Amino acid sequence: MTLFTSVQLAPKDPIFGLTEAYVADQRADKVNLGVGVYTTDEGKIPLLQAVMQAEETLVAKHAPRGYVPIEGPNPFNLAVQQLLFGADSDLIKEGRVVTAEGIGGTGALRIGADFIKRLNLNAPAAISNPTWENHRGIFESAGFEVIEYTYFDGNTRGVDFAGMVKSLESFPANTTVVLHACCHNPTGADITEAQWVQVIEICKAKKLIPFLDMAYQGFADGIEQDGAAVRLFAKSGMSFFVSSSFSKSFSLYGERVGALSIITESKEESTRVMSQLKRVIRTNYSNPPTHGAAITAAVLNSPELRKLWEDELAQMRERIKSMREALVTKLAAAGTKQDFSFINEQRGMFSYSGLSPEQVERLQKEDGIYALSTGRICVAALNTKNIDKVATAIARILA
Ligand code: PMP
Repeated sequence: MTLFTSVQLAPKDPIFGLTEAYVADQRADKVNLGVGVYTTDEGKIPLLQAVMQAEETLVAKHAPRGYVPIEGPNPFNLAVQQLLFGADSDLIKEGRVVTAEGIGGTGALRIGADFIKRLNLNAPAAISNPTWENHRGIFESAGFEVIEYTYFDGNTRGVDFAGMVKSLESFPANTTVVLHACCHNPTGADITEAQWVQVIEICKAKKLIPFLDMAYQGFADGIEQDGAAVRLFAKSGMSFFVSSSFSKSFSLYGERVGALSIITESKEESTRVMSQLKRVIRTNYSNPPTHGAAITAAVLNSPELRKLWEDELAQMRERIKSMREALVTKLAAAGTKQDFSFINEQRGMFSYSGLSPEQVERLQKEDGIYALSTGRICVAALNTKNIDKVATAIARILA
């Protein structure tokens, strides 16, 4: 018997585990459609020009690395608020938004979950079925019972909105409902603005706690357009939570840049909420890192760099769209009988392709094409060099 005799081997993380298998694969033409990372047409993670320029200025300053405030630097937090709610937002003017830097979107979700848990509401957290793998883990680790709401309809490959409404209406008061603000991961299927209005009404009537996860702002239709759900919640007068991730939109994955915003009912409430949120952060990691947030704030707060970033974000968005269109066309040209036009309707980096676990396994074994066993493929990892191989392989496996 040693101290660790009873420690069981945990299963590998489904996404990072898949990447390990991909890295070990010796085939030169292997393709990783598993991980949620945007790559260029050359298959590389881009370093955005806007980021590079901000970074060069920052490095040239050779500034000392003191601690930043527990909640992160003010210029960053304010820029996050303006991105979410608009520069002229009444919520911001009224002091009703509390924002703290998070260690990526994941860290933002976690400090939000920890904060809600400390409210002692004795209610579960609800995640969409299906959802990004880590939602369940984050809320369970924070001590929540995690339940699911109906979301995806495998037949229509769109949202089962009636099912979603039914689930939400059945939840007890104070249930935290984790909602994908745009570009639903993993399905790529989003609800419409009219449906968001309905969701907000249910949240209000049933006293649910909305927690919007915004990990892909700018990847569907544009920065403003993709903020539509957040803006509707802002108008509703409700208190709610938003986690922002800049991993994708700034291509800053490893820098771990994110933020949690909590919308309160008054400035006075905000002061109390922030004081408790700071305690959550202080006992987790004390205060956030400097570099990523400094770059992000520099870009967002400089009109020139911001314009450059918006153009680069638009390029990423357009490239993903063109890959969606190309995949649909090439699958048809390769002779697939199924209608894949739903891929063009889906938004963001992912598509629920409809491939079964067995078909995904064959793609991996026979072709060196890696996807999640759920059939989720990362469309943002397709490029003009690998798309023919992918379309041909999928067509062969479906034949
Ligand atoms: N939420 C969703 C829906 C995501 O897809 C991701 C990233 N895959 C995150 C949150 C977390 O992002 P980050 O890498 O910034 O922690």
